[in-house]
Amino acid sequence: MTTRRQILLNGALGLLAIRFGVVRPATAAQDFPLTHTDAEWQKLLTADQYAVLRKEGTEYPFTSPLLNEHGKGKFACAGCDQDAFSSDTKFDSGTGWPSFWAPLDGAIGTTKDTSVGMVRTEVHCSRCGGHLGHVFDDGPKPTGLRYCMNGVAMKFHKASA
Ligand SMILES: [Zn+2]
Repeated sequence: MTTRRQILLNGALGLLAIRFGVVRPATAAQDFPLTHTDAEWQKLLTADQYAVLRKEGTEYPFTSPLLNEHGKGKFACAGCDQDAFSSDTKFDSGTGWPSFWAPLDGAIGTTKDTSVGMVRTEVHCSRCGGHLGHVFDDGPKPTGLRYCMNGVAMKFHKASA
């Protein structure tokens, strides 16, 4: 039997997990619905896409055409084409990277990233595990979040309507 107290507790823990991310295990590749070997990814992706999606690289700011993409549509993972962000949540953060204040439901996962001597929350595609960018808590309303994405890790699908 689930009490109201347990529901509240689970909800709080869920929020914590989202807020701080979870540490991704070394065997993460096997945890995603879509997997390829490293050699396959190198064939499937361009060199720049591979460096970001599979090696957690970061593109130079102000280099992505998607930065100034203001059309209606969905921004999908360049690795597996799963939609990740809607144009409805895109905003100009001034950082030089395509920025969003919310992802699409279930589209992304997060991990704790300490790689550059500070704690950041890494963002990746929930389907193929491809690295997309990072999320920071200095974004605009309503979420206060800033999903700082690599444009090279995404494809834009313009809405047909
Ligand atoms: Zn993907």
